[in-house]
Amino acid sequence: MTASDPRPRVVVLAGGVGGSRFVAGVRGGLRARGVADTASAITVVVNTGDDLWLSGVRLQPDVDSILYALAGVNDTARGWGREGDTERVNAELQAWGAGWPWFTLGDLDLGTHLARTGWLREGLSVTEVVGRLGARWPLGARLLPMTDTEVDTRVIVSDAGRMRELHFQEWWTRHRAALDPVRFENPGIAEAVPAPGVAEAIAEADVVLIAPSNPVVSIGPILAVPGIRGALRDTAAPVIGVSPIIGGRVVRGMADVCLTAIGVETSAAAVASHYGARADGGLLDAWLLAEEDAAAADDVARGGIRPIVAPLWMTDADASAALAARALQAAGV
Ligand code: GDP
Ligand code: CA
Repeated sequence: MTASDPRPRVVVLAGGVGGSRFVAGVRGGLRARGVADTASAITVVVNTGDDLWLSGVRLQPDVDSILYALAGVNDTARGWGREGDTERVNAELQAWGAGWPWFTLGDLDLGTHLARTGWLREGLSVTEVVGRLGARWPLGARLLPMTDTEVDTRVIVSDAGRMRELHFQEWWTRHRAALDPVRFENPGIAEAVPAPGVAEAIAEADVVLIAPSNPVVSIGPILAVPGIRGALRDTAAPVIGVSPIIGGRVVRGMADVCLTAIGVETSAAAVASHYGARADGGLLDAWLLAEEDAAAADDVARGGIRPIVAPLWMTDADASAALAARALQAAGV
């Protein structure tokens, strides 16, 4: 790409809630500078580490968060699922004792899961299924799963002094991350390969953005797919991350508990150093940190990562677009 190219190729690594807001911001940022065809500019590599089977259907929480948010059909008040959804089928499932009593599946949401499961059963790959899901609405971005094979997230917790293994959703949704995690495991990840198009998109990108998603259970699994770190190291594109931590706190969710479990402090600088400087075999060329964390900029710079202080609150579409525009500007695209 040259400075005059109006349509930079942007790759975003993303999880669900933080990821979807940021990806919508990238789309908004590109639209604001006149890029009409954002779908051929933006490739989102989505975490599939928390996908799961429940009541016979395949759920992809992060894919669906991004899909619904970009389509504008997400429930913004609740923060997950479809706007205006009902729970008739869920009540019936609960009456049968099927699924998990603490996990709600909306009716419209179940429509998505059934469509997805049907296509998987017909033999489509996860990439093809995500492509079909993404074709219903004009999303303005191409969604790719991180891998086509099934990868899980398990949490090893210490419960009253006893070690116990839980499914990530049980730990997160049922226990609200209140059980002390000792570590996270991703069964299946060592055998996984990047989904078709992922390594190519990273190699051909003008910029790679790491969304302000959970570094441990959203970005972590993407980076753990063998081949993805190498692709990030080898690309000529700058790799720029956005801190999910503002003023020493997570904005939404419980990423702090996850960070503590892997021995990383809940601070913008600590997450930057967890990702590491590219010059040092890590990932990042630059790191966007909040104005509240400006004092940590020197620390980040000392670690070999260019700090960029900017407003990081994605409070509405304009704020998210401005944040994404700042990240693109930092990359010189
Ligand atoms: P999940 O997969 O649904 O858990 O969502 P993600 O992993 O994509 O995002 C969760 C992370 O987003 C949390 O760690 C939050 O700190 C971060 N986050 C949420 N909203 C904001 C925001 O407005 N600004 C920033 N910088 N981070 C945010
Ligand atoms: Ca997730």
